This record gives sequence, C-alpha cells and structure tokens, in this order.
Amino acid sequence: MAKSDSAPCPLYIDGAWIDPKLPGTPVFNPSTGEVIAECPAGGAAEVHAAVEAAAAAFPAWRDTPPVERARLFFRYRQLVEKNFDRLCLSVTREHGKTLAESKGSIYRGLENIEYACGIPSLLFGDTLENLARGVDCETFLQPLGVCAGITPFNFPAMVPLWMFPLALACGNTFVLKPSEKVPLSAVLLTELLAEAGVPKGVFNLVHGGRPAVDALLSHPKVRAVSFVGSTPIAKYIYETGTRHGKRVQANGGAKNYIVVMPDADVPKTVEALATAAFGCAGERCMAGSTAIAVGAAAGRFLPSMAEAARAIKVGPTDRPTQQPDMGPVITGQHRDRILGLVASSEKEGAKVLCDGRGVKVPDAPNGFYVGATIVDQVREGMTLSREEVFGPVLNVMRMDDLDSAIEQANRSAFGNGAAIFTNSGRAAREFKHRVKAGMVGINVGVPATMAMFPFTGWDDSFYGDLHIQGREAVQFYTQQKVITSRWFGGEVSDVWRSKP
Ligand code: NAD
Repeated sequence: MAKSDSAPCPLYIDGAWIDPKLPGTPVFNPSTGEVIAECPAGGAAEVHAAVEAAAAAFPAWRDTPPVERARLFFRYRQLVEKNFDRLCLSVTREHGKTLAESKGSIYRGLENIEYACGIPSLLFGDTLENLARGVDCETFLQPLGVCAGITPFNFPAMVPLWMFPLALACGNTFVLKPSEKVPLSAVLLTELLAEAGVPKGVFNLVHGGRPAVDALLSHPKVRAVSFVGSTPIAKYIYETGTRHGKRVQANGGAKNYIVVMPDADVPKTVEALATAAFGCAGERCMAGSTAIAVGAAAGRFLPSMAEAARAIKVGPTDRPTQQPDMGPVITGQHRDRILGLVASSEKEGAKVLCDGRGVKVPDAPNGFYVGATIVDQVREGMTLSREEVFGPVLNVMRMDDLDSAIEQANRSAFGNGAAIFTNSGRAAREFKHRVKAGMVGINVGVPATMAMFPFTGWDDSFYGDLHIQGREAVQFYTQQKVITSRWFGGEVSDVWRSKP
C-alpha cells in the first residue's frame, strides 16, 4: 500500500482542534491507490466530549436570534464560495469524482447553506386571533438540542451540508461524524465554519466507524440523528436511534429505474442516461442504474448507448489540467465487488454489451478503476436486478409495454428515484402517477431534489417520517409549541386610561 504525505485529520470539539489518537483507518486517493491520510478510529470518549460540549453550548445558541444565526451562514456561504476550488480538490482527491462533478456537488451544498440563510422566515409559526372570545393562539418552532449527522463516502461535502447548516440555523447544536473513507473535506468545512465565527461547542466534528456511531446513538443528550448511507446501516440507525428515544431520519441505498419509451428522443435520452448511469462512477443514490427499454426502444437507443459508454474516458481525477470523463471508484475492495456482480449476471444469463472490467489506466495503474459497463437482458431475480451496485454499471431490462415497466419498477424494495423518457404526455402522466418512488423525473435522468424540496426516498431508501432538506427538514430539526393565551383584568380601555 503506497503512502504519500499524510494529510492531518483532526477532531474539532468545543471550539478546539484535537490531534487524533492514531493508528486509524486508511484514507485513499482512489485515483492512485495511495494512502493520503489516516482517519482516527474515534470512539465513545471523543463522542461523549463532543456531545457534552454541544449540550453546554445549546442554551446560548438557542437564544441567539434567528437573524443572527442566519448571518453566520451568510458569512459561511461567502467563505465556502471563496474556498470553492480547495473544496473541489479535496472532494476529488479523497473520493475520486471528476473536478466537474465535485464542483456540481459543492454547488448543491451551497444551495443548502443559502436555504439556511432564510431561517427567520422558515421559522414563522401560525397564529389565530380569537380562538375563543379574548383567547389567542400561536405556534413557535423551537430547536431540539444536540443533533448528530452521520454521512456516507460518496458526497464528502454535499451530504454534511444537507444537514448541519439547517440544523444549526434552527437553533440546535451539532456533532458531525463523516465517513471514515472521506473525512478530509469535512475537516475543511469545519475550518471554514470556525472562520465564519461559529461559537465554541455549537458545531463539533468527530471521526471513526461503528464505535463512534453507537456512542452517538445511545448518548442520552443527543435528541436527533440524521443519517445517509446504505440500507442495512440506515435500518440499524433508525431502529437503534428510535429505541433510544431519538428522532431519526435515515436515508438508505437505491436502485433507480429509467423507463425508455419507443418515442423517446434518442440523442437526448442517451446523453441523460450516460450521465445518470456513469456520472460519479455510478456512486450516487440517484444513479439511473436500470434502464427498462419498452418495445422498440431497445433497438432504437441501445446501439448509441453502447457507443456513448465505450467513448467514456476513464482515468485519474487528481490532475486538474488533465480531467477524464469518469474517475475511479472508492476502494479496491469496492471495485472487486462491482466486478463480481457483473460476472454473476453473466453466469445468470445476462449479456455484457459494453465491458468496463478490463479497463487499463497506464498512468495510474494502482487506482481503483472500472470502465462504463452495460449489461443487457437482465431479468427479475438476477442478483444484478436486486442489489445496489454503486458503480458504473447500467442494467438493461426489456419489457413489452409501459404497464409491465411500471410494475417492474414498483416491485423494487427501494423507492428513491425513477424516470421516464418519452414524448408522450399521456405516458409521462401515467408513469408519474403510478410509479413507486419518492423523486420522479420526466425526461430528467437524475431527479435529485434541490435544497428547497425534501429528498423524498420511499421504502428501503428511507427510514423515518421527515426527510432531509426543505420544510420537512425544518420540521425535523424543531419541535412545535402551541401557546393559547388570554388576559384577565379590567376593561381593555382601562389599560390606556391614565390613573388619577
Ligand atoms: P455506509 O452505510 O457503509 O456508511 C455510512 C455511514 O455509516 C458512515 O459514516 C459509516 O462510518 C457508518 N457505518 C458504516 N457501517 C456501520 C455500522 N456497521 N454501524 C454503524 N455505523 C456504520 O454507506 P457508504 O458506503 O459510505 O455510502 C454509500 C451508500 O450510501 C449507498 O448505499 C448509497 O445509496 C447511500 N446513499 C444514500 C443517499 C440517499 O440520500 N438516499 C445519498 C448518498 C448515499
């Protein structure tokens, strides 16, 4: 295992940077296979210190007016924009996505900061005058206390930004535990938040794997947990967190279907499908991983789709002036899992139409590469039809009609995204009405929602009641108080009459 100069990976607790206790777990540059840092294997002691600091900081932060909390995020937004290139380089270096993809993800993150800047109006309550004679009613949205965020490897900056800006703007304090595979961008986000002037203890950063997560899930002072990651862990987080009396929102994995109708615009569909299936090397929960070709659609779009996949240049992303179309996947272990899934589909009778397994990257021979792969004639029941691959692999299923395509998509255990490519308003209407998925695209391959809308996974793609982002997230990070009031005393006019 080659090792380059190791980047520091400190914790941030109670306004102070803490040097980690090593050894930790390796953080790779997936483009080269080099170890670029060690992520401290933090545990209960560090989590305890972070939660106690967050709990101590809560009363003063709760009482800080929302306009002042918003001003922190106006400053933070400016700093993230000023450090945009540094952040992109950091995300690309530890995750492997191209710089253009990192850029896109930081823009999505910035939008979440911008949404948090609007917190004074997002926290408006309701009022009803004269609920009964002389009785008025009003609602306040009050923060919960200490909230925690546990994030995955595939969006090292964007997913943390889905969580802590809004949680803090609502008046909570926060402990972030990023993925141990990509902790460095979270360190940078924390540095910028400290520079923006976040008061000590209001935001804390811890590292580690399961021991750190379990300490957060069982700590009595943690009131709410936001999680994004794979389905089995999302389920575990939801079950364990709620058992300990916490509010939990847990986003899981996905298998997203894209239905291609015979009347779809071929060049535009191919372009969108290539991005949906192979963008970020397929490592996104909204990846369009299965295309269902309806009727004559397969014959119309598959040849150009295969051509587009073969043209995708794979290579190292850590060289700013020499960017490929697609970067590596996160680890060698993950690459081998993807290759194994493609091999299993062949054994089960599917046909590999475009094979990215043997891809060679001579200038980065130790990187973790898989080329764009298309597996045709995938049928229900095959491993590839069930499992989330999380790599640059597009499955193709063939169906006779739209009904069968919708029924196929609706049998999935997941329910994150689904899309249809068609020129028929009638087909699109039928699809959006009936398909079982929380985010639906009509001629849009990756219908991932922006900051002002909730990220609405269904079924095994989400455990909880209130989703991440948008007004649902404001509800998640607050509790409602309803105040009913009346005032006793003399006549109203007495208040104004000057007493002799
Ligand atoms: P993961 O579930 O392995 O890890 C996510 C987090 O959980 C990490 O912080 C990790 O340290 C922690 N963790 C891992 N194993 C744990 C365990 N046994 N006990 C407690 N904590 C544990 O996910 P990943 O591989 O980092 O990310 C990829 C997955 O995330 C994919 O399945 C993808 O679909 C999903 N994802 C979902 C969304 C969404 O919004 N639905 C968004 C991005 C990624």
